[in-house]
Amino acid sequence: MENLIDIKSLFPEEIKEILVREGIEGYRAGQIFSWLYKGADSFEEMTNLSKELRARLGALFYIEKMRGAERLSSRLDETKKYLFTLSDGEYVESVLLSYKHGYSVCLSTQVGCKMGCAFCASTKAGFSRHLKPSEILNQMDWITRDRKKEDPDFRISHVVLMGIGEPLDNYENVIRFLRLVNRKEGFGIGFRNVSLSTCGLVDRIYDLAKEDMPITLSISLHASNDATRSALMPVNRKYPLPQLMQAAKDYTKITGRRISFEYTLIAGVNDSAQNAKELAMLMKGWLNHVNLIPVNPTRETDFRPGSKKNLQEWIRILEKEGVRATLRRTLGADISAACGQLRREKLAE
Ligand code: SAH
Repeated sequence: MENLIDIKSLFPEEIKEILVREGIEGYRAGQIFSWLYKGADSFEEMTNLSKELRARLGALFYIEKMRGAERLSSRLDETKKYLFTLSDGEYVESVLLSYKHGYSVCLSTQVGCKMGCAFCASTKAGFSRHLKPSEILNQMDWITRDRKKEDPDFRISHVVLMGIGEPLDNYENVIRFLRLVNRKEGFGIGFRNVSLSTCGLVDRIYDLAKEDMPITLSISLHASNDATRSALMPVNRKYPLPQLMQAAKDYTKITGRRISFEYTLIAGVNDSAQNAKELAMLMKGWLNHVNLIPVNPTRETDFRPGSKKNLQEWIRILEKEGVRATLRRTLGADISAACGQLRREKLAE
């Protein structure tokens, strides 16, 4: 398979270019592209192409496939979690979330993660490799096919890159995925319905600002000062808060888009009233929004969420300072819906 091309990671124009170079009619590219998004796993299924053409395609390209999947359904809500086995036997996870505005998928962008955040299960199992654009797409593809069995009208409307991995550490593949998923002939997901979450790779935030893609950028902040953030998130030693906040402000200036900050509250670590005031100072006076999330306890840490009372106190302090903050609903709590937990369990078996 080494010299075959991963066709699901290509744009129709690129497929066309290869076909034309091979002396095949270029318009076939559009037909092939739509087949890929109708869930074709082989060129054999592309029945409006001649047998001869299908054989030639098979000699040029391969179609990236999942080896299998396990599905967990929450009994508390409509959340479904998928543990996928990739073609080389690696595992990634995705989550399907149901909201009033439609279905949203949370996708993985890497097998594992290098970032080393203290509270995160995805990084504990180590980093294996980047995902190809086709492998990010296949998570959506599989979920769509799975749900369509019960609901023929099922359609994913929102995509969040908040699964396993640091999306901006797999920059080229992630940007390609986002442009592919946006294509009308493919999933047709509008950029405004896409969120990308990063731990704060400042150089890449500037690159992203120049892509001219009106997606929502979400920054995992989780601390209100450098000392705490560096202790929780090693990335902060490379890109400390003043640099990160400047990049965030520049991002909103360049794109006109509001930035969303994730703040995971961990009892006794980052959730004091002083922390709330520090956070308010960072957020005051520019285009942003804060999502507060009680920490999801994982097996390898003793981090615990704080009390409801403390949470209310936080919201009160932030509101008093005019900072927009909301409490994130936790979904799928009974199925380890926080990413990285299933892969971790699987590897431990
Ligand atoms: N690498 C990216 C995206 C993946 S993590 C990022 O850092 O943003 C998705 C979100 O879950 C991030 O905000 C991450 O900090 C958060 N997260 C990780 N472990 C968590 C835990 N145990 N409890 C609550 N949130 C967690």
